[in-house]
Amino acid sequence: MAGNAQCLFCRIASGEIPAKKVHEDADVVAFHDINPQAPTHVLVIPRKHIPMLNDLTDADAATIGTTIVRASEIARELRLHEDGYRLVVNNGEGAGQTVFHIHVHVLGGRGFRWPPG
Ligand code: 5GP
Ligand code: ZN
Repeated sequence: MAGNAQCLFCRIASGEIPAKKVHEDADVVAFHDINPQAPTHVLVIPRKHIPMLNDLTDADAATIGTTIVRASEIARELRLHEDGYRLVVNNGEGAGQTVFHIHVHVLGGRGFRWPPG
């Protein structure tokens, strides 16, 4: 899948920019977030450059399905699956999206009950 030369996450996926990768295969790349919001904070990205949820069509169903399945496998490998973990996808600046290559945050190692308490 052709990368977008302007895109940070395409450049991480291609290896042009280094990251602490925890997994990569033909479809997805996963790496530790540079500014972790939890004891474990991994980003899982499809190699395909899709900017955000707003852009999804049925043609992306397999890509997004694989990305979430891989996120669950990585969470298990990182031993997050018993205590619980959270997947987050931010859509748009108003939601805090800063990198416009779709990605799933895998957050674990602390509590995420909602509402808190
Ligand atoms: P967003 O806010 O777009 O949902 O998430 C983007 C995430 O990418 C942020 O949590 C941010 O810390 C992370 N990030 C931004 N630049 C880099 C980078 O160069 N390397 C890594 N590993 N993470 C990054
Ligand atoms: Zn990209």
